[in-house]
Amino acid sequence: MTTRTLFTNAHIATGQPGSTAAQTAPLQDILVEDGHFAAIGEGLAASLPAQGYDMTGVKTVDLGGKLVTPPFCDTHLHLDYVFTARKPGAVNESGTLFEGIQRWSDTKSDLTVDEIKARARKAVGMELRHGVQYIRSHADVTDPNLTSLKALLELKEELKDTVTIQIVSFPQEGMYSYEGPNGESGADLVEEGLRMGADCVGGIPHFEQCREFGERSMHTVVELASKYDKLIDVHCDETDDPNSRYVELLSALAYRAGIGPRTTASHTCSLGSADNAYFFHLTKLLKAAHINFACAPTENLYLQGRQDTFPKRRGITRVKELTDAGVNVSLGQDSMQDPWYPLGNGNMMIILDYVLHVAQMMSFPEIDDAMKFLTVNGATTLGMLDSYGVEVGKPANFVVLDADSVFNAVYERCDVLRSVRDGRTLFTATTSVDSATELL
Ligand SMILES: [Zn+2]
Repeated sequence: MTTRTLFTNAHIATGQPGSTAAQTAPLQDILVEDGHFAAIGEGLAASLPAQGYDMTGVKTVDLGGKLVTPPFCDTHLHLDYVFTARKPGAVNESGTLFEGIQRWSDTKSDLTVDEIKARARKAVGMELRHGVQYIRSHADVTDPNLTSLKALLELKEELKDTVTIQIVSFPQEGMYSYEGPNGESGADLVEEGLRMGADCVGGIPHFEQCREFGERSMHTVVELASKYDKLIDVHCDETDDPNSRYVELLSALAYRAGIGPRTTASHTCSLGSADNAYFFHLTKLLKAAHINFACAPTENLYLQGRQDTFPKRRGITRVKELTDAGVNVSLGQDSMQDPWYPLGNGNMMIILDYVLHVAQMMSFPEIDDAMKFLTVNGATTLGMLDSYGVEVGKPANFVVLDADSVFNAVYERCDVLRSVRDGRTLFTATTSVDSATELL
């Protein structure tokens, strides 16, 4: 039997570039049939019956003039690390990225599949409650047992009807700096992770022991992506060192392999310290390659600038300059209470608020267009644009925000009132964040 719901009185920001629902825009109705958008327009509640459409059995939900957008995308998260910050031995005293990696390495040997899944499940529930339906999570594969990857692959499958999870085969301790107990390199384990079903190839060139290892890892990342037909997401240049320029090599190699749009450079903090002449030259390559950037503003504001006194660098990639150049930038929560960052609750409106401030993107047109960072830009990074957006024919996935325009949503850092997946309401605002795990 066909299930049909008519959502009425919505301000819609479709998720397409420049789609900025304003308070003054006419309210629209959304007809969902069997999990897909069947019709979108003004006055459908009246015009459909007039056109002979049989409204029998159609459930109506009045959205009361609230803002509808596609679901949020968190394009950079570590689900295997969540809620480990207080574990004995895991506390990061210096607040640096590199101590975080050491603390994780020191304390990860007792992880189990079930324990990781329980923590990750709680984190996904919190993200879901904040309007996220698409997550790219890294899974640390510098572990001969690949415990994190096994756990996240199971969770991805179990939750697929509620949330889309992409998994990166990520060598946290390096492709060529890590050596496992049986002589495995990080690169060997990344490849094994791809064979097991990870969606993306990861890397961490700035952490490798020397520049040559970092460069070699970028070649390996692109070769593996081509060999296994996978996406790429590299932790790239997450340092204030302006000489860390692996994004240049990654972009050039991806461009030459014809997989630039399937490639993401995460963090790229060094661009916040690079000089303008270098960035000017690099921009030409980034535009040609069409690679994506993922920025985690709260995380890197906390971790970077740790070797500075004052003036102290912000450690954030050039979100405004990349955006102005037409390069796609999306956002990530990155951490939820792990050895790198003690906070993080999955609320992407907070992440957006930070990036608008720190990147100084607060002209009225920029604010009116800001929701793209959580929506269409995220779907672009994830390579999911074909099935994403509030458009007839696509899966009926959307969120309802407690605002009547994009500007007011940003202004209020508004709450998410409802999340709809394949036409099914996952929650309404009566569900508290504390009980979010029950949504799954
Ligand atoms: Zn990360």
